[in-house]
Amino acid sequence: MISARKINKHYTLGADRIEVLRDVSLEIEEGEFISIVGRSGSGKSTLLNVLSTLVRPDKGELYYRSSNLTDSPAAYVNTLRKSDFAVIFQFHHLLPYLTVLQNTLLPFMRMLRPVSGDIILRAEECLERIGLGDKKNRLPGNLSGGEQQRVAIARAMVTSARVLFADEPTGSLDKKTGEEIISLLVELQQSGMTIIMVTHEPHYAAIAERQIELSDGRLVQ
Ligand code: ADP
Ligand code: MG
Repeated sequence: MISARKINKHYTLGADRIEVLRDVSLEIEEGEFISIVGRSGSGKSTLLNVLSTLVRPDKGELYYRSSNLTDSPAAYVNTLRKSDFAVIFQFHHLLPYLTVLQNTLLPFMRMLRPVSGDIILRAEECLERIGLGDKKNRLPGNLSGGEQQRVAIARAMVTSARVLFADEPTGSLDKKTGEEIISLLVELQQSGMTIIMVTHEPHYAAIAERQIELSDGRLVQ
C-alpha cells in the first residue's frame, strides 16, 4: 500500500548538516499495524512525516497504491492526504475555541460553509463509539488528556481515512489512558485501517504486527 524507497532527508541548522534519514526503504501492506521505534532524535517523526506526505524527502521515492507521490503535483498529494490519511500527534492539535463536535468536523469545514447533516451525524456516531457522545458540546480545555486524544482519533474515523499515522499518541498520557488509546487503534485496525505508530514504549510497540527500528537515520530491523 505504501512503499518508501531509499528515502533521504537532512536538515541544516546553522553551519551543521544533520542527516536524519539515510536510504530508508520499507513496504507497508494494507491493513497492517506497524510500529516505529528508536531513541529520541533517531528520525522517527521525520520518517512518519515523510510517509504521511507532510515532509518531502530530498532523495528517494514514496509510492501510495502504486502512484509515485514524489513525482506528483502538490495539489494531487494534498487532496490525497485529506481523503486517505489521518495524523495524530503526541499533543492533540485541537482548536481550543471549537467544541468537541466542531473539532471532529474540522476536516470538513470550509470557510463559512455549513457542513452537511449526514457528516454531522457521522461525527456524532464516531464520538458515541469512542465514548464522548455526552461531551460533544464541551470545549477541549474541559476534557482530560485521554479524551482530547480520542477527539483526534474521532477525526480520523469521520474522514474514513485508510491510513492512520500516530506520532507518540500515548506520550502525554498516564498508563491506563494510554492503554485505552492503544485499544482504540487496534479496533480501528480491525475495521480495516492501516496503522503506523511511532512510540518509545516497548509494550505498546509489541502490539503491532511488525516493529521497525530506526537508529541514526537507518532502519536496523
Ligand atoms: P525522533 O522523532 O526520533 O525524536 P526527529 O525525526 O524528530 O526524531 O528528529 C531527528 C533529528 O532531526 C533530530 O536531531 C532533530 O533535532 C532534527 N530535526 C528534526 N526536525 C528538524 C527541523 N525542522 N530543523 C532542524 N533539525 C530538525
Ligand atoms: Mg519524534
